[in-house]
Amino acid sequence: MRRYLIEILSVSVSVAVALAGACPTPAVARPAQKALDIYFIDVEGGQATLIATPRGQAVLVDTGNPGTRDAERIMEAIRAAGVKKIDYLLITHYHGDHIGGYLELAKLVPILNYVDHGPSVESRLIDSKKAYDAATLSAPHRIVRPGDRLPVRGIEWTIVSSAGKTLEGSMLGAPGAGEANPYCADFAPKDIREGPENAQSVGSVIRYGRFRAVDLGDLLWNWEGQLACPVNLIGSVDLLLTTHHGLAWSGAPALIFGLSPRVVVMNNGTRKGADVDSFKTLYSSPGLEDLWQLHWSANASTEYNAPGRYIANLETPATTAGVIADPPPPATMGKPAADIGDPNHAPAYWIKVSAQPDGSFTVTNSRNGFSKTYGRRQS
Ligand SMILES: [Zn+2]
Repeated sequence: MRRYLIEILSVSVSVAVALAGACPTPAVARPAQKALDIYFIDVEGGQATLIATPRGQAVLVDTGNPGTRDAERIMEAIRAAGVKKIDYLLITHYHGDHIGGYLELAKLVPILNYVDHGPSVESRLIDSKKAYDAATLSAPHRIVRPGDRLPVRGIEWTIVSSAGKTLEGSMLGAPGAGEANPYCADFAPKDIREGPENAQSVGSVIRYGRFRAVDLGDLLWNWEGQLACPVNLIGSVDLLLTTHHGLAWSGAPALIFGLSPRVVVMNNGTRKGADVDSFKTLYSSPGLEDLWQLHWSANASTEYNAPGRYIANLETPATTAGVIADPPPPATMGKPAADIGDPNHAPAYWIKVSAQPDGSFTVTNSRNGFSKTYGRRQS
């Protein structure tokens, strides 16, 4: 099998300035390094993530659900970030909670480049997918494979899964990558037969200097295992977006423990994702400092939800009290959970991450302004 290594070039430039004998000059404040900003947008348990790069480009990963609601929520983040165009629209896969908002969003903002895994493996195509296919006929369109790089300026964007394939070699130079993963002894494949598009998900590792984040879309458990076992191909990261909204069809402990994220953002809805087993895994992940959630989860009731200040969108007191007094049955595989709360609530709040090239980053909840800075990783 052909194996390849992904060479990671350090973008940090070390400048040694020798001014021996120079006259003392007043200290000139250096402008603060521009941040990499990531907006995790509430699309009620789908995905829409806006990445505004330090060099003025924008990448949008997925477009939320069909209709105008999620397209408008994405536009709010686009305006807040000062973005005028989407340089790259990356669609992880073609389920309605990921590509659904495309039809309406494309009317609102220019999209320059399209990135995806290639043809769908499912026959049912929603209107947004048909419109997307039509757009890719006349705009730059790139089908990516593991190991590819997106040419986004100022950051390093590596594809680690796509079209049912995963990396064949480890990410050279990444901390912990290429090492035997001690958590693989307990990894066992799951028999998951539904939603084959999920396993096609385009997964990405995004690096800005020492800061690393990972987003695997809805990649399923067994494919996560390929990235984690027996060798940890990605290494450790600072930030993880939960795979598949925190559903237990994904979120393999061997992957999460191997990535050892400092912060996890869960892109769940009130009843979508956020399985109790996923919370248990995250809370036992070595090195986890905080879990942030896009929504309070009725599945987790009071036992597992993060503290309120880490949750972007809450339910009304009456809804929350009802769930606590009479907990709904837990979501089960293949069985949609009943709706609770108001999915069209306005405003909808996002979680924003601002990362610096030294690896430090700040997470902010736009609902309450609560913000926490995570200093550069010690190791
Ligand atoms: Zn999904």
